[in-house]
Amino acid sequence: MDPFSIVADLEEGAFAKSSRMVRNVKRLSSLREIFEDEADYQKSLSREDRVVYEYTRPVIPPEPGQLFFGTSTIHPGRIGREYFMTAGHYHAKLATGEVYLCLKGEGILLMQNRAGRTRHFRMRRGVAVYVPPCFAHRTVNTGSEEFVCFYCFPGDAGHDYESLKTRGFLVRVKERKGKPSVVPSAKRREGRNRGGA
Ligand code: MN
Repeated sequence: MDPFSIVADLEEGAFAKSSRMVRNVKRLSSLREIFEDEADYQKSLSREDRVVYEYTRPVIPPEPGQLFFGTSTIHPGRIGREYFMTAGHYHAKLATGEVYLCLKGEGILLMQNRAGRTRHFRMRRGVAVYVPPCFAHRTVNTGSEEFVCFYCFPGDAGHDYESLKTRGFLVRVKERKGKPSVVPSAKRREGRNRGGA
């Protein structure tokens, strides 16, 4: 393929939409069982099927040697006390890393490996976080505006959402006394009893 350049709108933070770019939108209805507070999830969904996050990325072939990159935008909001966040995933090709650079807003990047080790990093404009191979990752918008990140990972990495559906993340990001707090997930014990991934 030919080299190319694209432009991020620095007001919006994200890459501008164009014929080269595709946009993926994740609404509340497609994020069932992601949030802990099921009652508030149903209540919010009955009011409006809001956009929780979206990606804007150029079309690149999913092949070894290629790089996938783009911008992710998580809108501000909460379900119960839990902030809007991405579904989170491992890469299908597990031993592949990723880098995130915050362009706008504030948030937290959560990571977890198969041994159950969790790490989190607070992000604001200018903060880059490296996700090493074999770590699941999820971004969370803890601010009152859009949380926008640039990301880049190997083109043949793929996505594995299923492994996290059985065990889930061991920690969650919730509002406590007006501030974001990383707390153990209520589903933690359930996941352990199942033997985990
Ligand atoms: Mn990834």
